[in-house]
Amino acid sequence: MSRTTHARPPKRRGAEPRPPRAVPRKKTKAAVELAPLVPPDLKRCQAMKPNGVSAFSLGGVPARVRCADAPTVVITETRPGDDGRRGSMSLCDPCLQVARSQLGDAAFDFKMIPRRVVRHG
Ligand SMILES: [Zn+2]
Repeated sequence: MSRTTHARPPKRRGAEPRPPRAVPRKKTKAAVELAPLVPPDLKRCQAMKPNGVSAFSLGGVPARVRCADAPTVVITETRPGDDGRRGSMSLCDPCLQVARSQLGDAAFDFKMIPRRVVRHG
């Protein structure tokens, strides 16, 4: 072994007390009670959109149905929602355009879904 010693700050006895150890914070009660967020579905767009039946159409019920397209991005809310958490969801291109026009770009961050998730054939 080499004799060189690494320079260390001199130890002082009786100096200021050590900083307290980082104690892992206990989970707050609220965090425990909340159900886990639904993870973004990378196989199917999670937007709900009108089914094309208006309230004045004859027959059919106006409703919102889940988009069936393959998503291209995952958006995450920029600000936490009422529950204090930031939700995220997957969207296809057309639904992303709707979300951007309705909510504005500042409302969420978006991240492209890697192409490998999309199946070919
Ligand atoms: Zn969609």
